[in-house]
Order: sequence, then structure tokens, then C-alpha cells
Amino acid sequence: MTGKATDLDAVVVGAGVVGLAIGRALSQSGLDTLVIESQPRHGMGTSSRNSGVIHAGLYYPPGSNKASWCVRGRELLYAFCQSHQVAHKQLGKLIVGQDEDEAALQTITSRAKDSGVTNLRWLTQQELKAMEPEVRARHALFSPSTGIVDVHELMLALEGDIEKAGSNVVTQSCFLAASLIGTGVSKGWQLDVKVGQDERHRLSCQLLVNAAGLDADAVASRIEGLAAEHIPKVHFAKGNYASLTGSHPFKHLVYPAPVPGGLGTHLTLNIAGEAQFGPDVEWLGLADPHRLPGSTHPSLNYAVNTAQLADFAASVQRWWPSLRAERLQPGYSGIRPKLTQNAKEPAADFVLQGPDQHGLAGLVNLFGIESPGLTACLAIGEAVHHCAKTSA
Ligand SMILES: Cc1cc2nc3c(=O)[nH]c(=O)nc-3n(C[C@H](O)[C@H](O)[C@H](O)COP(=O)(O)OP(=O)(O)OC[C@H]3O[C@@H](n4cnc5c(N)ncnc54)[C@H](O)[C@@H]3O)c2cc1C
Repeated sequence: MTGKATDLDAVVVGAGVVGLAIGRALSQSGLDTLVIESQPRHGMGTSSRNSGVIHAGLYYPPGSNKASWCVRGRELLYAFCQSHQVAHKQLGKLIVGQDEDEAALQTITSRAKDSGVTNLRWLTQQELKAMEPEVRARHALFSPSTGIVDVHELMLALEGDIEKAGSNVVTQSCFLAASLIGTGVSKGWQLDVKVGQDERHRLSCQLLVNAAGLDADAVASRIEGLAAEHIPKVHFAKGNYASLTGSHPFKHLVYPAPVPGGLGTHLTLNIAGEAQFGPDVEWLGLADPHRLPGSTHPSLNYAVNTAQLADFAASVQRWWPSLRAERLQPGYSGIRPKLTQNAKEPAADFVLQGPDQHGLAGLVNLFGIESPGLTACLAIGEAVHHCAKTSA
């Protein structure tokens, strides 16, 4: 352990897209900020294991954090991509359904409208045929605001802004524990951080932000004074992807009606134009609350569950009948930190927990940042900055 602690205004635990966006917001507001990341590079967690979709904000209960941060985040993200030359494409997306899906599509249109997304529209059969000739569906909605982004370029640009503001991101730096220090206005946090293989460093800061993604609950359980009732139980749910071999006819993203816990087996395109299907929802069970955060633990098994691929083909063939099942190959997977136990419970909202909730000055926790966390990252950065400022 080094003798004197390094003094900082703010430390953000986790350099995924959310931690980086928070680091950018805090450093640009003049706070001397350090983003610490346990892995050898930024964004090796969920931020590099997703669909890369900039969501319009169609699915979430109006007024929820998911709805408002998605809509605000989407606007901020398109502007950021333009100003920072981050590769992105506003391709638009179709949501397609058969007769039995009409009610689900109606729910999407009314939720979207109540969340301020007013450009979603029903397509006629002729329009659908002109836009995606191989898609067969009774009903189709078109969302022109949906797009895709190169997440790696995005994270590099966020890190660049942090450095321009005079702050830093450090990798191979694993948060171990935080304890309260000081009294009155000089109150703050002392952090123990493992650097590299086994070097220990001590940091101190006024503001501690827990943006540790899948490990946010395990980080929280190592923060002195944070009552157990403020640390949610987290269940992991894997999303498996299948990649499509050969060429394809698609120009837009194509989604079926959503399923409990996920958005249905949909088609996304990456910036290179390659097509993949998924992610599905495979519940992995309760995350061990005593695990060491920032390390590789057995509950994070990213192997694609190939048994799921047969189901993929059948569900995609409902709207793309000419798909041959053998064209689907195991792709990759990502894991969601769910605040619910299974698909029967209604989806939980994003949780931003500040001093008003847990009573500890200078601490902000983020829990359950699943989709649309990528889209929402810049809005989450704004919200954390606002929370820190108003509760200081
Ligand atoms: C399958 C899937 C598909 C998705 N698709 C989309 C999509 O298309 N569009 C969209 O908007 N959202 C999508 N999402 C959601 C989005 O990817 C996430 O919300 C977002 O990436 C979360 O970012 P994060 O920074 O919170 O987490 P992460 O990227 O996981 O970052 C957390 C970081 O904290 C680090 N860390 C953990 N513990 C410690 C510690 N003790 N010390 C230091 N560092 C630590 C980890 O190593 C990690 O790098 C998807 C998610 C999944 C799982």
C-alpha cells in the first residue's frame, strides 16, 4: 500500500461506455476525475458485447429513467457522433408482426408517443415491400430515429474528451474497497485499488461513482456504510447472438414484437453491414453477491449456447421465410445485469442511487444498466453530474 493517498475530486469505477460518459461529464465540469478499470483495456465488459443499436426509445414505460434517458441520450449521441466523427448510421428500424402481434405493436406506438417519440409510423404492405422485399408480415412499424454506432470508436472519443479536460482513465486498476474519511465539508472516500498483479494503491476523493456494470452490486457491497437494503440482488441473463453467413438483402434493422425480458430475435447490422440475429434471453441465475468485483468469475460464461440456434431459425423464419437454418452460426454473447429474477416479473428500471436515497454524501451507484444503456450513456453522464452537484 502506498503511503499518502492520491487526492482527487471524483473517481468513477468502471470504464465501460457508461463510466466513460460519466467521467467525461464530470471532468468537463472541472472536477479532477479518475476512471478506474480492472481490465487491460476500457470497454471489455458489456460495452463490447451488445448490438450497437442507438435505440429510439419505443419500449420503456413513459416517465421511467429508461424512457427519458434513452430519448435524451439518443439525441446527445447522434450529435456527439457527428461532432467527434464516430462512425454511425441512422438506418431506421422495422418492427414487424403477424395477426397475433397487433396488440403488442399498438402498445409500442402508444408508449413511444407518451415518451416523446412522435415519428413512429405504420407501414402499408406496399411500403414494407419496397423497404424490405424479403420480409413477410401482416403489420409493420417504422422507426426512423433508430441507428447503429461503432461502440469502440465511441469509447475512444469519450476517453479523448476526458483527457482533453485534464483527467484520466487508468486500466488494470481494480477497486477493492472504499471507506469513509473526514467530517463536515472535508468528508470523502478512501479507496483501495489493486494495480496490475498485486500492487496496492490508495486514492481519496470527494465523489465516488460506481459504474461497474455487471459488478455494480459487488462493488457496492465493499463500500463502507452502504446499508444492505440499498444493494440490489442481481440476476444475470445472457443474450446469445447468431451471425448470418453469406450476403443478405437488408437495409434496415428488423425486430419482431418484443418477448418477456427482451426484444425478440431481431436482425441488426453492424457498421460493416454484417448481419446478426439475437440476442435471446437465457437466465443464468443469481449473481454471487460476495464475488470479487472486476475479476473473471464463473458466472460470466460468454460461450454461445448453440442449443438456442434452432429456435432462432424458427422465430426469424416467421418474418423472413427464405432463411435457411444452416446459414446461422454461433456469434457472440453479452450478459445483462437484471434487477428482476425472471421473465415473469415486469422489467426493472435503471437505478441511479445518490445521497437522497442511501444517505451517504459523495456516493452515486448505478444498478441494472442493461439495454438501452449504450444509447443512454451521455444522458446518464448528465444525470450523475446533476445528482452529484445538487447533493454536494
Ligand atoms: C446482449 C446485449 C445487447 C445490448 N444491446 C444494446 C443496444 O443495442 N443498444 C443499447 O443502447 N444498449 C444495449 N445493451 C446495453 C448496453 O450494452 C449496456 O447498458 C452498456 O454497455 C453498459 O455499460 P456499462 O459501462 O454500465 O457496463 P460495462 O461495459 O460492463 O462496464 C463496466 C466496467 O466496470 C469494470 N469493473 C467492474 N468491477 C470493477 C472493479 N472492481 N474495479 C474496476 N473496474 C471494474 C468492468 O471491467 C467493466 O469494464 C445491450 C446489452 C446486452 C447484454
